Amino acid sequence: MIVIRGATTIERDCKEEISKSVKELLDEIFSLNALKKEEVRVFVFSLTSDIHSYHPAKAAREAGYDFAPLFAAIEPDIDGGLKLCIRLMLFIEREAEGVTPKHVYLKEAKKLRKDLSSVYNIALDGPAGSGKSTIAKILAKDYNILYLDTGAMYRACALKALRMGISPKNRDAVEKLLPILDVKVEYRDGKQHTILDGEDVSLSIRENAVSMAASDISAHLAVRQKMVEMQREIAKSMSCVLDGRDIGSAVLPNAKFKFFITADSEVRAERRYKELVERGETVEFEKLHAEIVARDKQDSEREFSPLVCAKDAVVIDTSALNIDEVIQAIKAHIQAKI
Ligand code: C5P
Repeated sequence: MIVIRGATTIERDCKEEISKSVKELLDEIFSLNALKKEEVRVFVFSLTSDIHSYHPAKAAREAGYDFAPLFAAIEPDIDGGLKLCIRLMLFIEREAEGVTPKHVYLKEAKKLRKDLSSVYNIALDGPAGSGKSTIAKILAKDYNILYLDTGAMYRACALKALRMGISPKNRDAVEKLLPILDVKVEYRDGKQHTILDGEDVSLSIRENAVSMAASDISAHLAVRQKMVEMQREIAKSMSCVLDGRDIGSAVLPNAKFKFFITADSEVRAERRYKELVERGETVEFEKLHAEIVARDKQDSEREFSPLVCAKDAVVIDTSALNIDEVIQAIKAHIQAKI
């Protein structure tokens, strides 16, 4: 189930204004999201208590939006809240995968979602196991934007090399492989799927053996250029949260929000250990810790786009924080900058 949200305001509390604004809002949502009638499960309106003259559900029905149940409720009066405002939540079910709902805020209601007014990116960089991907997924969901896991793209490159029996460290061999390297990212049910040569490799790239190979292959300039070009292409057309090593410093130096997520290496190794064990992999903690430290060193010391904290990034050490605390801290920074 996907929820598309929207809101608009009216200038005066009268039937004509309500009918016109409700139609406008629905038309915009349907056209922006290329919505089909059969995808809609329910329309839920809410309106501020200063609206009395007409029912938005009726207005919607009269505008032809009568193919799913309609419901409306009055919102409590909150001091300082927007006046004469009609909000909508549209619950839809969609077969087509990878849909990021496009919410619509019109007129004065634009003030409610300043973050939606244009494309913006959130860069999350940091070492392995710092919690970036968990954080990125939550932020993407809460802000209804795309999550781009850039590490997955380097992992797919590494998997290709490993499958072809090429050492990811061998620059010449890797460069020869690039013209036939076919890595794509697709979205299904809001989740990123990494596709290598037409095959969904989202699970295989998570194997521990691929981690170091990804670090090796990502050190080659030609590999980075190819991946970064794809990342920029995606990030320019839609708002997204990207996690990686060089997002704030090299891929999107102008990203509106930049965070550097870090944690003590022992804590990070513990997190990865749990993750791998849960996935059924057999790993030794000490070995995993040593690998993480080695990978950080290699990622930080490489020549091209090393792992660095961009000078304008907000550093968040997650060693002693739970995920809710990290999310709260990040959202507070974002809110303060909007
Ligand atoms: O984040 P993840 O552990 O999946 O990344 C795997 C490897 O890919 C990293 O160790 C790093 O070497 C490389 N990487 C990178 N730049 C990014 C994302 C990942 O070099 N933006």
